[in-house]
Amino acid sequence: MRRAGQVVREVLELVRAQVKPGATTLDLENAAAARLAELGVKAAFKGYHGFPCVLCTSVNSEVVHGIPSHKRVLKEGDIVSVDFGAVVDGYFGDAAITVPVGSIDADAARLLKVTEESLHAGIAAVKPGATLGDVGAAVQDVVEAEGFSVVRDFVGHGIGVHMHEDPQVPNFGERGRGMKLKVGMVIAIEPMVNAGRPDVEVLGDGWTAVAKDGSMSAHFEHTVAVTATGSRVLTE
Ligand code: MG
Repeated sequence: MRRAGQVVREVLELVRAQVKPGATTLDLENAAAARLAELGVKAAFKGYHGFPCVLCTSVNSEVVHGIPSHKRVLKEGDIVSVDFGAVVDGYFGDAAITVPVGSIDADAARLLKVTEESLHAGIAAVKPGATLGDVGAAVQDVVEAEGFSVVRDFVGHGIGVHMHEDPQVPNFGERGRGMKLKVGMVIAIEPMVNAGRPDVEVLGDGWTAVAKDGSMSAHFEHTVAVTATGSRVLTE
C-alpha cells in the first residue's frame, strides 16, 4: 500500500505543478494519465461506477467528484481540489489536495489552511485503541473553531484491496464512540470543508457535488495505516 501511496503522491505533485490560470481541468487529467501510462499503473477512479476520468477535479464551490473538462478553465483566485487513487499489485492508495490558482483571497487561503490542518489533527488522533469518533471529533473541532462546516454527506473510508472498504470514517463525531482502531488497519481520512453551510447537492451530471449555498469548499486526504506506535501516512 505504501507503493500505491507513493504513486498517488507523485501524481498529485505533478498535477499541482500544472495548476495555473488558463489551464483546464482536462489538462490536469491528461498530465496525470500520461504519467500513469509511463509508470504502467492503473488509476482507481476511472471506471469506478462509471466515473470517466483518473482524477476528480472540483473547483471553488464544487466539493468532490468533479469531472475534468476542456471547458473548465481555471482562473486567478480559484481553488481546485484534486482527488486521485491508484492501484499497485492489487493494493490501493487514495489522497487529495486543494490547490490555489495563482493568488487567492485571504478567506480562500484560510479555508485551505484550516482544512489541511483538520486532516493533520485527524491523523494525529490515529493510534491503536483510539476510536473513529476520536478521529472525527479531532477533524471537526479544528474546522468548527474557524467557523467553517464539515460536510456530512461524504466520509472517509477503510482502504486496502478495494478503494472503499469498511469502516466509514466520518469527519465528525464524538470522542470514545465508534469502532476501535487496531494495528494494521488502513483508513483514508478526507475532510471536506465548506466555508458556509455543510449542505451539498449533486449536479445533473450525476457526479459533481457542490455546496448548496455556493460557498467555497476544500478537500484534503491521506491514506493512513495504524501502527503499534500510532500511525504512518502512506501517501506523503
Ligand atoms: Mg477517499
